[in-house]
Amino acid sequence: MAIAVLDEETVNLIAAGEVIERPASILKELLENSLDANSNRIHIEVMTGKSEIDRIKITDNGSGIASSEVATAFLPHATSKIRNGGDLDNCLTLGFRGEALPSIAAIAQVSIITRQTGKSVGYRLLICGGKILEKGEIGAPDGTTVIVEDIFYTTPARRKFLKSLQTELSHLLKVVELAALTRPDVNFQYFVNGQEKISTHGSGGLIEVIKQLYGDEAGHMLAVSYEMSGVSVRGYISEPSVFRQNSQKIQLSVNSRVINSTRIVYAIKRGYGTLLANPLYPMAVLGIALNPTLIDVNIHPTKREVKFSDENLVIKVVTDAVRSTLKSESLVFSAELKGINETKATKEIVDKPLIDNNTHERFVPQVGVYSERVASSKSGQSSVCAETLAGYRATTRQIHQTCLPVGKALTKPHEDISDLTYIGQVNDMYLVAENAGGDMVLIDQHAAHERIRYDMLKAAHESGVRTQELIVPVVLSLSPSESTRMSEIIPVLKDEGFIVEPFGKDSWCVRGVPVVLGKNEDPGAVKEILGSALTGGDVSRLGEAVMKMTACRGAIKAGAMLTSEQAEELIRQLAHTAEPYTCPHGRPTIITFLSENLEKMFKRT
Ligand code: ADP
Ligand code: MG
Repeated sequence: MAIAVLDEETVNLIAAGEVIERPASILKELLENSLDANSNRIHIEVMTGKSEIDRIKITDNGSGIASSEVATAFLPHATSKIRNGGDLDNCLTLGFRGEALPSIAAIAQVSIITRQTGKSVGYRLLICGGKILEKGEIGAPDGTTVIVEDIFYTTPARRKFLKSLQTELSHLLKVVELAALTRPDVNFQYFVNGQEKISTHGSGGLIEVIKQLYGDEAGHMLAVSYEMSGVSVRGYISEPSVFRQNSQKIQLSVNSRVINSTRIVYAIKRGYGTLLANPLYPMAVLGIALNPTLIDVNIHPTKREVKFSDENLVIKVVTDAVRSTLKSESLVFSAELKGINETKATKEIVDKPLIDNNTHERFVPQVGVYSERVASSKSGQSSVCAETLAGYRATTRQIHQTCLPVGKALTKPHEDISDLTYIGQVNDMYLVAENAGGDMVLIDQHAAHERIRYDMLKAAHESGVRTQELIVPVVLSLSPSESTRMSEIIPVLKDEGFIVEPFGKDSWCVRGVPVVLGKNEDPGAVKEILGSALTGGDVSRLGEAVMKMTACRGAIKAGAMLTSEQAEELIRQLAHTAEPYTCPHGRPTIITFLSENLEKMFKRT
């Protein structure tokens, strides 16, 4: 289709608003143009000065623009992608507003060199502040090169609002990253000041791109391929052991258009259910595809949001896609999978659909388990139910805190433990299981979790990622002698992940804690651990003592009622530790009753 200016009626239909907020918005629009021109090779070069982006250059091998239409492309609302409002309903191109090139040319100097496929000569145009300075035919390779310089020179006020160079560069990088993850079939190269930052093959394999961008973590991604009711979801999600504190590494696209959607992010999290604690987010690269008539792409000028005609359906499909992927990897310990200890209530959890009408509400099907157990044991006390629910949540949080390094640090689980079939809990303290040989195995839940936490601390120690910032720092008021000791042991504490800083006379501020403690850690726990380090003892052995104390404080307690999922997860984590058979203090975690001994006890032999 030729480039033409849209009529007024159509212009009025299009979501109005500013599109060029920062250098990254320029790159995003230019990249979209290159992709719409069916390029499969896109080369981007960014040059910076000391404090700002000097130049963005993007070269593609797409269809190019006819010489006679280049100037038209810079007119407001000039586009080759739609003709009228009706075309919007079926729009499969990323662009349709006809606003990018004129908006960029209004705030910067733009030169474009383009040659349309099949033509023998190209065309060059130089435009600045909306005024054409030079134009004419020129020899050029197939495709289009756009160079943008003097960004925001016409709007110095805007320029002042730009963040630091590093921030702008990170936004630029993100734009290329998103494009590369959405279009693995395109070869992207991204250079900053001559240094290669991203280079993807364009061979079509998404996992290859994920490897390029995320490195080792790609090894912990699970392939998603799911379709229901005309909505398909494809891509990768991380194993629950690989997570982030925010949703930055969840990349979504709809019909190859990068989008933001908090509801879909929630849908993904919901798919993980209790495999991921509430404040944590998985990594995910998911592409949703559906009939274009079922989405409205024209609701926001930056086109990063879309409106689904049936959003609840999309949400449901995404959650189901994530759930079924995790299930098929047998990461979800459900009664269904293990086929044992299947009470009516646990069966209900497995079968209960995750979606209800209010998708923002937290999913707490576990209430069912508790109400049943509580009803049978301590009848009719409603406060007990709330209490057990709180206990359940605390235990879930504790178990999730130890999810990460166990999976990462050691790849091979201890076979005799990972083969265990969980049966139940005794005295809210011991887990009863059966091994492949028919022996009865008892596990001390506190000792086991202490071992897991200890291994996690060790792994964190080795990897160098030891600490995380507390959301609310903890302030300690010490006696003068404790204060002296504190100043001596700060380096040891730091080595163990505790960041302690002076905070006025005899006061100290704990800003960071080991990763195994939460970033919302209760001040009591922090005070208890550090308090034990202040009581004296050989500084050379202090590190180990602090590690053991940290492992113990916050571990699942004897007396905590566990659901079968929680117990099974605990056993799984234990199987991945280096020394699963003892706690860090050397007490046993597992005691096995050999079946032959049971036979003797029952005088069967
Ligand atoms: P839109 O993308 O919304 O149509 P733009 O202002 O971004 O509006 O671009 C105007 C027109 O210029 C496009 O419709 C397209 O025809 C043409 N164009 C822009 N960039 C390219 C490119 N890299 N390759 C081919 N054509 C392009
Ligand atoms: Mg465009």
